Parts: sequence; structure tokens; C-alpha cells
Amino acid sequence: MSDFAMTIGGDSIAAADSFGVINPANGDVFAHAPECTTHQLDAAFDSAAMAQRHWKLDEGLRRQTLLDMADALFASAGELAAILTAEQGKPLAEANIEVFASAIWCQYFANLETPPHIIQDDAEAFVEVIRRPVGVVAAITPWNFPLTLAFWKVAPALLAGNTMVLKPSPYTPLTTLKVGELLRDVMPPGVLNVVSGGDQLGAWMTAHPVPNKVSFTGSIETGKLVAQSAAPDLKRVTLELGGNDPAIVLDDADPAVVSRAIFAAAFANNGQVCSAVKRVYVPESLYADVVEGLTAQAAAVKVGDGTDADSRLGPINNAPQFERVKELVADALANGARATTGGKAMDRPGYFFEPTILTDIHDGTRIVDEEQFGPALPVVAYRDIDDVVERANSTHFGLSGSVWGTDADRAAEVASRLECGTAWVNTHLALAPQQPFGGFKWSGMGVENGPWGLAEFTEVQALHRSKSSDGLNLSISSIYS
Ligand code: NAD
Repeated sequence: MSDFAMTIGGDSIAAADSFGVINPANGDVFAHAPECTTHQLDAAFDSAAMAQRHWKLDEGLRRQTLLDMADALFASAGELAAILTAEQGKPLAEANIEVFASAIWCQYFANLETPPHIIQDDAEAFVEVIRRPVGVVAAITPWNFPLTLAFWKVAPALLAGNTMVLKPSPYTPLTTLKVGELLRDVMPPGVLNVVSGGDQLGAWMTAHPVPNKVSFTGSIETGKLVAQSAAPDLKRVTLELGGNDPAIVLDDADPAVVSRAIFAAAFANNGQVCSAVKRVYVPESLYADVVEGLTAQAAAVKVGDGTDADSRLGPINNAPQFERVKELVADALANGARATTGGKAMDRPGYFFEPTILTDIHDGTRIVDEEQFGPALPVVAYRDIDDVVERANSTHFGLSGSVWGTDADRAAEVASRLECGTAWVNTHLALAPQQPFGGFKWSGMGVENGPWGLAEFTEVQALHRSKSSDGLNLSISSIYS
């Protein structure tokens, strides 16, 4: 795996400098990615601006291109998945799913109907509300789902008539660079530019004068910097940020069922999912049983190199995140929590951490209050349902949450009280291209997916055609006449 180039104006672009990409399963640099210069970034934005002039005019071409993109992704899934596993660490089967999901998002938006919205059609006027593209979009993605999260942006932005410069995380640039290369043949040059570099490149993008919109997925800390950087020239901003999702188990839940499902939703992608379950609240009456179920799952799950077909969980993606998980677990243990299984890094090369269940733990412990983003799950006991809803909500986070119980109506009523963008009942992590996804509070601004996500890549224009001969039939004058 050596040849990774940027895509700018439809061309393969190398850079004078490059940076190493580490395989988290062994800690070794296995490939290099180009370090985009400011001049190359200018060229990428200029080509996006140039391409947008024609791209915005041909909806048929845009829809067909999205379908062609999906075909190209499906056709190259094996190659892309291998790169994704090497740079991200996730098992190959999940890497394949990530590529398929990206293709499915393209297909969804290719076929999403955008009916005209006529708000007046009478003797005075014909008035339509029309969604216009914002222009050029700067898109920045994190390392946990480099491809899927990119396509949550690429597919709606392109359908709406925008063009894009896309930057993946420096931890996982390769799959996105490869996709840029694969898609050169299926779209006009400049429509989708892919650049790579460090965090500084992201900062250059958000401050750049050409893009009218920044679509960002990443941490809250960086999201705030992005909002500040975009503010001076009033760039439109969508921020998909971190979460600390609570799962609340009700006293009528079946412990065996919920512990299996919650384990899956907490340890998916090795816990590195923005909307994974990150803290579990269990009534005292079920606490021992739910802990036992979660512990059994965590103790049995096979952790290993993502290229090993038996591995269900891979390594943590990068060294800083590995250190953070170690630190949060050590802090919990030092403050009276108990690991019923796991609790430490695995004794092998790479960034492997034992799947960990933490009990005898309380709100106020860092791993309960902060986003751990890794394979360690705190289980907190509660007595009173109103109190636990209050505790679930008393945080700056508000991405998603779930409530679990046999009486689904009662669980739905509790879920409706959660202050978050997605409230699940008897499931968690159920995501779909048609379902809006976004965060309350510090977990984000705006949403992705569905017609709501598409709208975020548009400006609203009222197109008002007067039907009077003298042009004087202003609605306001007719109201006052
Ligand atoms: P991060 O904020 O460190 O980096 C995200 C991206 O921002 C990277 O491409 C990075 O290079 C870039 N970047 C860094 N500094 C920048 C700056 N000053 N200006 C512009 N761009 C900059 O996040 P991460 O560690 O890659 O990802 C993990 C975080 O992302 C977690 O908090 C997770 O919850 C969150 N996340 C959120 C969602 C969501 O949809 N809400 C999805 C996935 C991940």
C-alpha cells in the first residue's frame, strides 16, 4: 500500500511532503499520505468553485453521478475495505459494511425526491420556495468511520448542487484518498476534491475564503474551533460532535436481552462510535443480572487484528485515544470502581485494550461524565426514574440515548424526556439514510441525513412571480388595503 495521491480538479496530485499512516493493530507505519500545501488547497477550492457553475445546473447529471458513485464503491469494496482495516483497525467484515453503507447513502440521495414547495398560486402571484445550493463545501471527517461519515456529507451536498473539498483525519486518510481516485472517472473534474494533511489543514479549510459551508464531524473541542473560524465570513456550519449516550434500563426489562443488545451498542467499532452507549443506568433490582450479562459478553468477545476473520473487535485507532482510554479506566479504578472483566491494555503490540465493564461506579467519575470513545463501559445503579432521567440529561452532551423495557410505551415516554437528537426505544445505534441525525447542546449544530440533512446544504430562496400588470400587488399592501 504505497500510492496514495490527492484528487484536485480531477487530477492525481502528489505533494512534496508526506506523513506516515500507522496500522493500529501493530503500531507500525505502513503507508504515507500527501501533506497538502496551502497552494494545493487553493487549487482544490478554485476547481470546486469552477466546477460548481455547471454542476448546479444539471440535476439529472447529479442524480446519475450519485448512482455511478454507488456502483464504483460496490465494485471496489474489497480493495477499500482492506485499506480501511489497515488504517482504522476495524474487522474486515465491518470495513466492508462501511463501504456498502457509503454506497447506499449515495443511492438514497440519488433517489430522494425534492418536490416543489408552492406557497401561493392565485390571481396575484405564483410563489415557490426553492432550495438553492450553498456553493462550495469544506468537509472534514474523523477517524472512526472515515468513509461512511464522509458520504453522509458528500451524497447530500452533491445532490443539492454543491461541490466539495473533503479532508479525512490524518489517522485514516488512505481510504478517502483511494475513493477520490476511484471516483475521478464518474464525475466532472472539481466536483469532489480530496486532500490530506494534519489538523492544520482543517483549520486552513475553515478559514478559507472560497467555501460557503463547513460540514464537520469530530470532537466538541475542535467543533468549537471550527465554529469560531467560520464565523467571520458567516460560513454556514453543520457540526456533528461527540456524545456520552446514556442507556436507561427500566425495571421491567429482561436482563439477558438488554445486556446482549447494550453490549453490541456499546462496543461496536470497539466503542469508537459517536452515538455508542457510553454509560448504562440500571435499577438496583436488575443491577447484578445486567452486570453479569454484560461481563459475560465482554469476556467472551474475540479481540484481534481486523484481518483475522475471527476478530469481532479490533484495536483502538490511535495512540492518543489509547492513552485516553487507559487513563479514564485507571481513574475509575482508583476512585473505587471495579472491573468485572478487563481493565487494562492487552500485552501485545498495537493499541489493544481489554473489553472492560466497570461497576460500583457513580456519576461524577470521569468515565461516566466524559466521552470515553473506547472499549470500556460504566454501569451505574439507580432507584428513581425521574432522578435517572435528570442525571442522564445533566450534561453538555446531547447526541442520543436509549431506554429499554418490556412495556414499550412506558419506555417511549421515558425516552421522550431525553435531551438528545436521537432517542431510541429497545434499540440503540439504529441509523438510516432517511433518519435525521444530530446533537442537542454541545453534541452538534444541525443534522445530517434525510431531507433535513439535504436542506443543510442549501439556501432557501423565495421565487415570487407577480401576476399583476403593474407589479404593485405587494402582499403587505393587500393586507393593509
Ligand atoms: P477531532 O476533532 O480531533 O478531528 C476531526 C477532524 O477535524 C480531523 O480531520 C482533524 O484533522 C480535523 N481538525 C483538527 N483540528 C482542526 C481545526 N482546528 N480546524 C478544522 N479541522 C480540524 O476528532 P476525532 O478524534 O478525529 O474524532 C473523534 C470525535 O468525533 C469524538 O468526539 C466523536 O464522538 C466525534 N464524532 C462525532 C460524530 C457525529 O456524527 N456526531 C461521528 C463520529 C465521531
